[in-house]
Amino acid sequence: MTDELFRKDGYLKNCDSLVIAVDGVSVVLDRTVFYPTGGGQPGDTGVMEYADGTAVHIIDTVKTESGIAHVLEEGVSPPAIGDTVTVEIDWLRRHKLMRMHSCMHLLCSIVPFGVTGGSIREDSARLDFDAQDPMDKEAINTELNRRIEEDYPMTMRWITEEELDAQPDLVRTMSVQPPRGTGSIRLVNFEGVDLQPCGGTHVKSTAEIGAVRIRKIEKKGKHNRRVNIVFDE
Ligand SMILES: [Zn+2]
Repeated sequence: MTDELFRKDGYLKNCDSLVIAVDGVSVVLDRTVFYPTGGGQPGDTGVMEYADGTAVHIIDTVKTESGIAHVLEEGVSPPAIGDTVTVEIDWLRRHKLMRMHSCMHLLCSIVPFGVTGGSIREDSARLDFDAQDPMDKEAINTELNRRIEEDYPMTMRWITEEELDAQPDLVRTMSVQPPRGTGSIRLVNFEGVDLQPCGGTHVKSTAEIGAVRIRKIEKKGKHNRRVNIVFDE
């Protein structure tokens, strides 16, 4: 399996790794800084450099049974098992995803309804809430930006599944349950505003998100309100 370096430090941009499995253009490494698609956050993209200096594009990152697979562009020759490679994230894109993802935590902390779905992209994100009544777009917009500006620090801690089960209120989202079976669960805490189990990547404090704007709030069914957010810059 792959050592997930990004879980402990979301700011790592590159690492040297050993190829442990290859399937077509999917390359599994013994460790990586690349986040795999999951929890509404897209997988990282970037570059893989072979020992001979050849550099190829990584167009997606996904979880597989053998570990985290770095998907290379079609047509390139993949490295061989046992090779050492260097991988580097497209940091500008990843940082935007971290900012948008962190913003979704703040949105959760403001809108008092369960989350039923969501999607994060480079320049926008949306969350679906289990809500029937219209929401005050301007009020949420103002509060969201206030919490961003107030610059709440993010900390992480790991707890066991038993500890989590003893505190069911921690599981705020209805569609994205914490990962099970690994023994420990990571809690992400924007101190004083939002605490939840999450496997994604986050900024170290909320001011780093930058100004955002609620583009629209849509009614998507009787029990669903979708909040769409973009960067306001
Ligand atoms: Zn998160």
